[in-house]
Amino acid sequence: MEFNKDDAVKRRIQVFTDRVSMLKTNDLYFYNQPIEEIRGGAKVIVRGREMGMYASYSYLGLIGHPRINAAAKQAIDKFGTATNGVRTLAGTLSLHDELEETITHFKHAEAAITYTSGYVTNLTVISTLMGRGDYVLSDKLNHASIVDGCLMSGAEFRRFKHNDMVDLEHRLEQIPDDVSKLVIADAVFSMDGDVIDLPNMVKVCKKYGAYLMIDEAHSVGILGKRGTGIEEHFGMEDAVDIKMGTLSKTIPSVGGYVAGRKDLINYLRHASRAYIFSAALPPAQAAAANEAFKVILDEPWRIEKLNENTRLFIGGLKSAGFDTLLTTTAIVPVLCGSDEQAFLMTREAQHHDVFVLPVVSPAVPEGAARLRATITAAHEPSEINRAMDVIATAGKQIGII
Ligand code: PMP
Repeated sequence: MEFNKDDAVKRRIQVFTDRVSMLKTNDLYFYNQPIEEIRGGAKVIVRGREMGMYASYSYLGLIGHPRINAAAKQAIDKFGTATNGVRTLAGTLSLHDELEETITHFKHAEAAITYTSGYVTNLTVISTLMGRGDYVLSDKLNHASIVDGCLMSGAEFRRFKHNDMVDLEHRLEQIPDDVSKLVIADAVFSMDGDVIDLPNMVKVCKKYGAYLMIDEAHSVGILGKRGTGIEEHFGMEDAVDIKMGTLSKTIPSVGGYVAGRKDLINYLRHASRAYIFSAALPPAQAAAANEAFKVILDEPWRIEKLNENTRLFIGGLKSAGFDTLLTTTAIVPVLCGSDEQAFLMTREAQHHDVFVLPVVSPAVPEGAARLRATITAAHEPSEINRAMDVIATAGKQIGII
């Protein structure tokens, strides 16, 4: 296919082609860099150089954990690398049932269902539950997969101010009593690292009869003493109707899940299109995820170490003069200002073997470009101190601090 007509498709592609080639010419393009090797959880080899990894979702350092690797290998020996198709027809393995049982207990629910990605989980779950005439209310900073799920559902889509329960209540007040309402938020926000005000959100949802769905992509393994997530963090039980999460972050696999009431999960198993029309999670990934939930409960020291490392990193960056917004978690935004300043910071950091990546507009508002640094339980304090020195030196050079 040739893009020689002067139409919207051609223009859209051209804009990106020009932007990417400008960044490459100026040595400011940092996306899709191949990692050649992962060493010990907190180090990676990129372009033949060992760098400290500060862009990982593996918050508890579980990638490569011997128990998890062994479970994946055993699954391949027993089941091979694929399933026989979609779950409903011939693809369900005993491994899938075991994984869903493990998630059910971990999330203190009645049942759970898994899908092949977190992105797809949000799309299919929201669009299966909600439809025309219903209302979905989504936090302004929710992940793209939630926004896409809301749009796909065909329901009336309302966005409330970030983590603002007064604004949420104000919007719920305006919706008729007799329609279905679903309120959705991330537990920990993927760009800012702050935590949703669950206690007040639950109160508002109860008052207006709205269902509550929380995406725990960045809170499982992070929040709560045992790492089970947002409800444990706030000392609440069964506060969330639809407990969504991914298997690709703290859980070192791929996939997504929802846990909740038996009738909800049973409905999704028979009505959600990503379950009915898409192939099942591969055996190695299902087994790895299953083992990972058990490792989290068996090795609570990882959560303690993550918390210590997080405090060190956020405290150090703040006292160097950086704005890290309202984060209290392992996702640490380091505000840079313009997109160009964020690219320059990335270049300096990577030149000094700190692997960190920028997030620029339109993913974040213009002028709020940042390094989106992450910290894990696999980092040692001496490595974190070195990374902070590198980032602070770059910040001074570029005029951010
Ligand atoms: N929800 C949130 C909050 C996320 O950050 C992400 C991934 N960045 C997803 C859902 C999608 O998950 P996955 O990568 O497993 O598809």
